[in-house]
Amino acid sequence: MSLDNRPTYSGGCQCGAVRFRIEGALGDPSVCHCRMCQKASGNFYAALVSVRGARLDWTRGEPKRFRSSNHGWRGFCGDCGTPLTYEAPDGIALAIGAFDQPAEIAPKVQWGTEAKLPYVDGIPALPGHQTMDDQDATGFLASLVSYQHPDHDTDQWPPERGT
Ligand SMILES: [Zn+2]
Ligand SMILES: [Zn+2]
Repeated sequence: MSLDNRPTYSGGCQCGAVRFRIEGALGDPSVCHCRMCQKASGNFYAALVSVRGARLDWTRGEPKRFRSSNHGWRGFCGDCGTPLTYEAPDGIALAIGAFDQPAEIAPKVQWGTEAKLPYVDGIPALPGHQTMDDQDATGFLASLVSYQHPDHDTDQWPPERGT
């Protein structure tokens, strides 16, 4: 919350070159199954939330944009490629997964369902495993060092890093 009690949100790309801050109420979070969103997100669907009614500031860097149609642009980090925005004449929507706290932003509606991939609805029924369940990967995981930006704002990025 900010001083005047407006909700605030932060987030950014995986490499940390682009960071955003939102102050104010988010629109209805959604997923869009349309083929354009599949390609733009490199995924089964795009999960987006409109920030049309809020204040959006790019606090570090700014997305590079691809004009995906005569009406829309897709913003992404030019350094690491993380999908970040869908921008249309009526406003900007941000990728829910790019928020620092995406668990707060539950989708409320689906769009583009005519293009929904046939196996998407079956995913919750697939066998599930936690990361550490994979015994063969124990050493790999124990020695893993993430170079992704953490889920909070940083004064300096990237940090000093030994070789
Ligand atoms: Zn990046
Ligand atoms: Zn779409």
